[in-house]
Amino acid sequence: MGASAPFVFLEEKHMYRVPEDFEKRIEREFEGRLRIRYSKRKNEFHIEQKIGRKLSNVPVLDYDDDLIRKKDGYLFVLAISVGDRKPCPRCGLTLHVPVKEFREISCDFCRIRGMEHKTSGGYFPLNDSLIDYLKSLDPIRGASMRLRAKVDMANRNHAMALETETINTALDAANDDFSKIAGIPRVGYTGSTHSANI
Ligand SMILES: [Zn+2]
Repeated sequence: MGASAPFVFLEEKHMYRVPEDFEKRIEREFEGRLRIRYSKRKNEFHIEQKIGRKLSNVPVLDYDDDLIRKKDGYLFVLAISVGDRKPCPRCGLTLHVPVKEFREISCDFCRIRGMEHKTSGGYFPLNDSLIDYLKSLDPIRGASMRLRAKVDMANRNHAMALETETINTALDAANDDFSKIAGIPRVGYTGSTHSANI
């Protein structure tokens, strides 16, 4: 169980997938509240929280993360990098991604040019380290206020307007709300493809 379970690299298409065992494990550890999914569009792993029922009869393209979540009844929580580097969402230069932690990172090139330079990220191997991190954020398991504040700080610059409406309507109960603790880490996110209410 604790053995390392690295993701599988699908060479020809330059994409990844989450090992089935690990998918099941996330669902089991969090009793179906969380899942992990590979985003083809962003080339990263998304942790998502179940907030509602699955919708039927919604056509979904396999790279449209927002629609996939809406259709499945999930909310974005956290994006996990597939490696310890990722491109700056603004200028595209390579940024070092924190390993086994999730926090704010800064792009020196953008900062020097006076541009928005903060994003956030974290790389976790798909094994116990990620499970443990998610548990540490879990409100039901009593995530500490200090930790919440730290993650909030890491995310504070990154509004995810697209999902705000969903958050407000679906998660006012809040005691089961991963996304308020851990979420909204995207920057450079346009949301321009947001489709009408479904
Ligand atoms: Zn940059």
